[in-house]
Amino acid sequence: MSGGSDTSAAAAVVAVTSPPRDGAVDAGAALTDRAARVAAALGAQAAALTWDLADEADLESLSRAAAGVLRDRGARVVLFADDDLGRQLAPVVALELRTAAVVGCADIVVRGGCAVYVKTVQGGWLERELTFAAGCIQVATVQIDTAPAAAAEPAAACGPQAPLWIVAPVPAPESAGLRVRRLDLEPPDPKTVDLAHARRIVGVGVGGASAELLDAVADLAELLEGSVGATRPVVDDGHLPKERLIGQTGRTVAPELYLALGISGSPHHVAGVQGAEHIVAVNRDEHAPIVSFSDASFVGRLEDVLPALVRQLRAIRDGVHTPEDPGA
Ligand SMILES: Cc1cc2nc3c(=O)[nH]c(=O)nc-3n(C[C@H](O)[C@H](O)[C@H](O)COP(=O)(O)OP(=O)(O)OC[C@H]3O[C@@H](n4cnc5c(N)ncnc54)[C@H](O)[C@@H]3O)c2cc1C
Repeated sequence: MSGGSDTSAAAAVVAVTSPPRDGAVDAGAALTDRAARVAAALGAQAAALTWDLADEADLESLSRAAAGVLRDRGARVVLFADDDLGRQLAPVVALELRTAAVVGCADIVVRGGCAVYVKTVQGGWLERELTFAAGCIQVATVQIDTAPAAAAEPAAACGPQAPLWIVAPVPAPESAGLRVRRLDLEPPDPKTVDLAHARRIVGVGVGGASAELLDAVADLAELLEGSVGATRPVVDDGHLPKERLIGQTGRTVAPELYLALGISGSPHHVAGVQGAEHIVAVNRDEHAPIVSFSDASFVGRLEDVLPALVRQLRAIRDGVHTPEDPGA
C-alpha cells in the first residue's frame, strides 16, 4: 500500500454512518464533517451513506449492499468511524470492493492531492503514514472525537448539499452460502484492549506509582472491569508499558468513566481524556488542576482511599454485607 492515489474531481469521499441508536454515541455528524473536509482538500464531492435501522440485516448483506452503492456511485474514499461496527464493516466492504482497509487511523491528511492515512504506533510515540496504490478504492476507519465541546467550525461542504445514500440490505438466503456467520460476540479483555476503545479506565499518576498502590490499582481496574492507564512519568519510570500512556503523546481516550488517581491534571495529560463521559479524581491536593476537570473529586491519600475502595467493591461483588467502612 504505497505510491500515489487518484481521487479525481468527480470522485466521492463517503462517510458510512450507522443510523443512530438510543443511548449510543452518535459519531455520524463528526464523521460526515471529516469526510467533507477530506473531500474539500481533494477537490472531490462529499456524500454520506447509511441504512435503515429497521433492517435487521447481517453484516455481510449490509456490506454487500453498501459496496454495491459505493461502486455504482464512483466512491473513491470510504470512511467509517473507528468504533466496533466500523471496524467490523470496513474490512468486509473493502473485500467486496476488491481493495484493502486501513483500520484505526488517528488522522487523515491530504498532501499533494493524495490522502495520507496516519496511524499511531509504539503506544503513541511514533506515527506511520500509509497511502493507497493508484487506482484503489480507499477504505479506512478513523478515530472520531465525539466530545460535544470539541465541535469545530463545520466544513463548508458538509450539510444538506452533501447527498445521503441509503442502502437497503437484503438478507441473503441460507442457500446463498454466506461467507461470514456470527457465532458469538467476545468482548475484548479490558487488560489488553486498546485504551482508545476501553469503556472504563483507572488512570494512575505519580501519586499512585508505588508498587503497593499499583497492585491496588490493578485490583480496582479488575473489579470495575476496566483498563489501567497512566501519565507520562509513570510510563517513563517503567512502571507501566508505553501503550498505557494517555495524553498528548499517548492515547486519546473516551471511556464512560475515567478515574484519575494521583494525577495532577497537566494540559498534556488532560488533552487525552477530554472525551471521557465522567471523570472522577482522587488527589491529596484539593487544588490540583484535575479537580476542575472532574465531575467529582475526593481529597485524600491513595494509601487510605484505594485499599478501602477495593475492599468495598469486593464486598459488593461477593454480595457480602459489610458495616460502613469509615476509611471509604
Ligand atoms: C512535550 C510533552 C508532552 C507530554 N505528554 C504527556 C502525555 O501525553 N501524557 C501525560 O500524562 N503527560 C505528558 N507530559 C508530562 C506532563 O507535562 C506532566 O508532567 C505529567 O502529566 C504529570 O504526571 P502526574 O500527574 O502523574 O504527576 P504530577 O504532576 O507529579 O502529579 C502527581 C499528583 O499526585 C498527587 N499525589 C501525590 N501523592 C499522592 C497520594 N499519596 N495520594 C493522592 N494523591 C497524591 C499530587 O497532589 C499531584 O497532584 C508531557 C510533557 C511534555 C513536555
